[in-house]
Amino acid sequence: MSKLSIRDLPLNGNRILTRVDFNVPLDNGLVMDDTRIRETLPTIEYALRHGARLILTSHLGRPKGKPNPRMSLKPVAERLRMMLDKELAPGENVGFCPDCVGVEAEEMSGKLEKGQTLLLENLRFHAEEEANDEKFAKQLANLADYYVNDAFGTAHRAHASTVGVTKFVQKSAAGLLMEKELEYLGRALHHPERPFIALLGGAKVSDKIGVIQNLLNKVDALIIGGGMAYTFLKAMNQQVGKSLVEEDKLDLARHILQDAKTRKLKFLLPVDHIVAEKIDANTTVTTVDSGHPIPANMMALDIGPKTIEAFADEISRARTIVWNGPMGVFEVAPFAKGTFKIAEAVAENAAAISIVGGGDSVAAVHAAGVAEKIKHISTGGGASLEFLEGKKLPGVEALTEKH
Ligand code: AMP
Repeated sequence: MSKLSIRDLPLNGNRILTRVDFNVPLDNGLVMDDTRIRETLPTIEYALRHGARLILTSHLGRPKGKPNPRMSLKPVAERLRMMLDKELAPGENVGFCPDCVGVEAEEMSGKLEKGQTLLLENLRFHAEEEANDEKFAKQLANLADYYVNDAFGTAHRAHASTVGVTKFVQKSAAGLLMEKELEYLGRALHHPERPFIALLGGAKVSDKIGVIQNLLNKVDALIIGGGMAYTFLKAMNQQVGKSLVEEDKLDLARHILQDAKTRKLKFLLPVDHIVAEKIDANTTVTTVDSGHPIPANMMALDIGPKTIEAFADEISRARTIVWNGPMGVFEVAPFAKGTFKIAEAVAENAAAISIVGGGDSVAAVHAAGVAEKIKHISTGGGASLEFLEGKKLPGVEALTEKH
């Protein structure tokens, strides 16, 4: 990585402002899922072990620029106290400041001692955060000597806490989680072990066009499932019934198919389908075998058994796998099998570097009980998609160059 890492910073005795992603689900002031906090612990503990005076800052939810007690980070400070290594940070060493900027934040961060942590209140209680307001960014920067960004999930957004702040601190570096994300995704895009395959699914072609186009000249095989497959199948003149089709993307789909053919790229689409008249757990479900048309009154809601076999076979031979998007309407039981079987196939390939991104595919690997076997589960859905599109992430670009 060409950017500074937290390991390159003089942490001892310095105030380190660290942008984390503590955007966790809350219910009545209770943290319902602490995965995002856990993912950041290596960076936090690294900083504390090296004598940092640590200031953590994050957004939570969409309070739209106004304080909203239901989106306070206070419960997160409490959870963090319980989760941190007790020897490294006894509970009383994790403080909470009721505003992320202003007199109190300055006082509390100024008084921090080595090895102590302060979590600031939700950044998005100020509209200036998302507006990347310079004055606000400067106020944040005033709290610290150095800046670390460990929030990969917001690295595709140019906000005050991800971009603006970097102009006003001595040095800005990537945290350990950010570094890990960039290493996995960067290696897949730029130096993949081959065969390199991408598995794309989900509802819409339009959301993933950029990814498809960028990956076309990088992967050895592109596998497309989920709703987006039916725009491609229709573009190939197949009868897709009432399946999800983006009519305005048919030409583009034809163009992509032609491009893949010219490049002699393997382009796998579903050959059989699980269909129903509507998306409903109690509806009648049938399988449309390969070579048969999808009836006019039916929609394809999952990939069929032959498709699962063909996709799993390709997955088993890959050495780098990038997966984003479910293979069917996996939230509804009768249409979940394809996604779960693909999750299992990805997990079973122990020799491959497997990277799963996007909320639905990540949920699927957890629901299938195979998350432990995936080499890298990305914490940033939108950010990982933009990275795969070949876009530069503003939050990464803003970090200090190593040389
Ligand atoms: P995305 O956010 O684009 O990754 O899309 C995820 C959504 O796509 C999920 O909510 C799935 O239910 C939906 N989806 C997957 N396959 C299909 C399909 N064949 N028809 C309609 N929706 C689908």
